[in-house]
Amino acid sequence: MSKTCLPPVLLGLLLAPLCASGGDRLFIRDARIVDAVDGSVGARQDVRIEGGRIAAIGDLEPGDAAVIDGDGLYLVPGLIDGHVHLDGVPGMDWDQAQANPELVAEALQQIPRAWLYHGFTTLVDLNSNAERLAAWNAEAVAPTAYHCGAAPVMDGYPTRFLPEAIRYRVAPWFLVDPAANRPIPEGIDPAEHTPAAVAQAIADDGAVCIKTHWEDGFGARNDWPVPSDDLLRALVEAGAAHGMPVLLHANSLPAQAAGARSGVGALVHGLWAWEEVDGTTPTGAVLDTLKLLAEKGIPVQPTVQVLYGERDLLDPHYLEQPALAAVLPASLLDWYAGEGGQALGERLRGYPGFADKIDNEGWQAPFVPGIARVVAATRWLNENSGVLLFGSDTPSDLTYANPPGLNARMEMDRWIEAGVAPARLLRAMTHDNAEFFGFDDLGTVAPGKQADLLLLAADPTKDVSAWDRIEWVILDGVPIGRDSLSAQ
Ligand SMILES: [Zn+2]
Repeated sequence: MSKTCLPPVLLGLLLAPLCASGGDRLFIRDARIVDAVDGSVGARQDVRIEGGRIAAIGDLEPGDAAVIDGDGLYLVPGLIDGHVHLDGVPGMDWDQAQANPELVAEALQQIPRAWLYHGFTTLVDLNSNAERLAAWNAEAVAPTAYHCGAAPVMDGYPTRFLPEAIRYRVAPWFLVDPAANRPIPEGIDPAEHTPAAVAQAIADDGAVCIKTHWEDGFGARNDWPVPSDDLLRALVEAGAAHGMPVLLHANSLPAQAAGARSGVGALVHGLWAWEEVDGTTPTGAVLDTLKLLAEKGIPVQPTVQVLYGERDLLDPHYLEQPALAAVLPASLLDWYAGEGGQALGERLRGYPGFADKIDNEGWQAPFVPGIARVVAATRWLNENSGVLLFGSDTPSDLTYANPPGLNARMEMDRWIEAGVAPARLLRAMTHDNAEFFGFDDLGTVAPGKQADLLLLAADPTKDVSAWDRIEWVILDGVPIGRDSLSAQ
């Protein structure tokens, strides 16, 4: 997608006249190009960018192009987050948003910049449609957003929280599972809700993937409708006819086992809901499922930050982090600290057993076992040829503790804690996501590729902290100084 020329105020000082003189030509001198596939770092080279594409790499002359001095910098592909939700403002429900239009407007201005600030130039919203993403993609300074169409099973998660009167309109691409034998509500034609019909409708909307859900309930619940293996297999086949992988919401053992058996395209959560009490060594059925995932090469997005997004609502000092001030406006951070923003944490403290646990063991305690399990499962996959895909699930729920851009940066730390090497993390955030979603123009630094690139002052194959040292974000060939993307 082509973006228009940026106003000079957004550019670094050296590049102010970029749009006025040959604005579609950029020359990066003497940068070290990082190979996203094998993690090697090349010798210093020049890169010429024309019309938003990488035109040439080598020992080149700048001509009349604007020049960035890349000496001492590392050039990497722009990052791809394969699991985001771009509607609304994190941590604010619909009523709160209606009551605070100015806050919302200011936040929505900053959110795309927060993603770019942390190096993400491409996002995949796992539950959206072309109409909802049109406004996002019309902004000049925003990552390019793609979407999955959501195909929940009828009356299942997440639409079961909606009143029946609107449920079938809000998520029109729901699936009727013949194996479920549920009564079909009046006015619904099951022929429009087969895997083939739903995949066709989602493809017609321009989606790059299909998202469905295997969720039988949270906590002690387990009675919500879930897709049968046959339905999942039929959906995988129907999606493949349109080049769309099926992404499965699955974070429990039965959910991941169903995804592994059915051969879905990817699981979009790590495995944190399983029985073993110590939760640090996968055994039994957990181990069998992880083995099957690795054997079939079914990718998993660990999304460890989902649990931190809940946990950190209990952290009395969370909002004091300096990193938040770069990604969100001060007005919104103030609102989070007030009554409206704190209501979520209050509700969480009221969960059965939470108050006692927090009083006795500290605010982190309720989420310790789940985090230990998902880290253990991720570590196992990493060490046993499992496929990990990068997706942060930002925001995973109604929480301010999955902030745009920054949450993905935190997810990088979670991967490192699970034993993933920095070079593998880089590959997952670039080449592997590009390949999985079919973004042929993205994911590596090579002639002909789209010029979504980053220049870092440190080597990201050595240490994850290099992602805090982004100097330039190059979006469709246009360089943006990182500082200008900050909310401060
Ligand atoms: Zn999600």
